[in-house]
Formats: sequence, structure tokens, C-alpha cells
Amino acid sequence: MNPHKVITGLTALQADGLACPVCGANYLRVRVPSVPVGRSVTGSQVHACVGRCAEVATAEHRRRLARGW
Ligand SMILES: [Zn+2]
Repeated sequence: MNPHKVITGLTALQADGLACPVCGANYLRVRVPSVPVGRSVTGSQVHACVGRCAEVATAEHRRRLARGW
């Protein structure tokens, strides 16, 4: 997990760490434990649900790195 990676293509809520970039859970409405998985282009922290979403978020980043994005 790299909390300093930049994640693009997010909604405003996701970019502010208020929604999961993987499943779309709104943390203002749903109490789900979340972990920082990176940063948005604005520099704010992006959070994903603990467990599968966080794994997916980091795995997706690894695939992008492998493709040279
Ligand atoms: Zn999620």
C-alpha cells in the first residue's frame, strides 16, 4: 500500500476521502472502516474500505504501473 500514490478519475467525494473509489460506499452515510490508499490529484487523501476494496485499489494501481501509466 502506498499512501502517496495519486489516484485519478475520482468523484469529488472519492477525492476527498469521503467515498470508496472501488465500491462507491459513501462514508458520510455508511460507517465502514476505511484505510488510506493514496491521494487525489488535489493532494487530499483517498480512502477505501478495509479489506477487499483496499486490496482492489492497490492491485489496480500495480496493474497500471505494470502498463506504464
Ligand atoms: Zn469500498
